[in-house]
Amino acid sequence: MSVLVASDLDRTLIYSEAASRLGLGPDDPTPDLVCVEEYEGAPMSFVTPRAARLLAELAERTTFVPTTTRTREQYGRIRLPGPLPEFAICANGGHLLVAGESDPDWHEGVRKTLAVHAAPLAEVVAHLKVVALPAWTHKLRVAEDLFTYLVVERAALPPGFVPELTAWAAERGYGTSLQGRKLYLVPDALTKGEAVREVARRCGAESVLAAGDSLLDIELLRAADAGIRPGHGELAESGWSAPHVEAITTEGVQAGERIAGWLVERSRLPVG
Ligand SMILES: [Mg+2]
Repeated sequence: MSVLVASDLDRTLIYSEAASRLGLGPDDPTPDLVCVEEYEGAPMSFVTPRAARLLAELAERTTFVPTTTRTREQYGRIRLPGPLPEFAICANGGHLLVAGESDPDWHEGVRKTLAVHAAPLAEVVAHLKVVALPAWTHKLRVAEDLFTYLVVERAALPPGFVPELTAWAAERGYGTSLQGRKLYLVPDALTKGEAVREVARRCGAESVLAAGDSLLDIELLRAADAGIRPGHGELAESGWSAPHVEAITTEGVQAGERIAGWLVERSRLPVG
């Protein structure tokens, strides 16, 4: 039996300290946390101790494919429990890592697709430099020369900004996704789903399980036979649903634990 498990990482399986508390009140105790990412010596991302055990089991029993919008460098900081995954998907599908190395043929294919279906990234970045005002924009970042994102002061974001930007971007083959303090502009043709289908072909997977929390995970979930999403995040907030995707109400790092448990349980079921 060959089961491929493709899961988003941030706010699906792993959580910043702030995100770990989603759904908790100020008086609720902080859950026990195990660090899975350090940045410049500081702990950055966490899972619960039980989720850590479940993720190790998942990596041992299935083809577990971390599937993230993170750049390769940002992904490289994460140390998930269990053996190192043979495959990983970074930059929202722009890089398919095989044994830690980006597959050049895959990447070249992605570049060719984007050249046809998306406006040049430079046009999008130039627009952002005009419309993203310093009053609520901390940073403008270009990721792997594939997409761009703003780090924003979310509470100070003008209410019309994201809808207007979304309409502008749609005409140029881009979509927006607002996750915590990050506002992404990603080509519609750059999807986690296409990369997951490629990995499934390569390893002859009989079934694909997926998990994700944001709009950038819709194509990932569509590429799966069954999936799950947490009670927080854009998918929950927008009311997105699909018959094969289980919607749980648990939020924060506890949702990550439940999702890891669901993936382990489902991967044990017979395929078909
Ligand atoms: Mg996420």
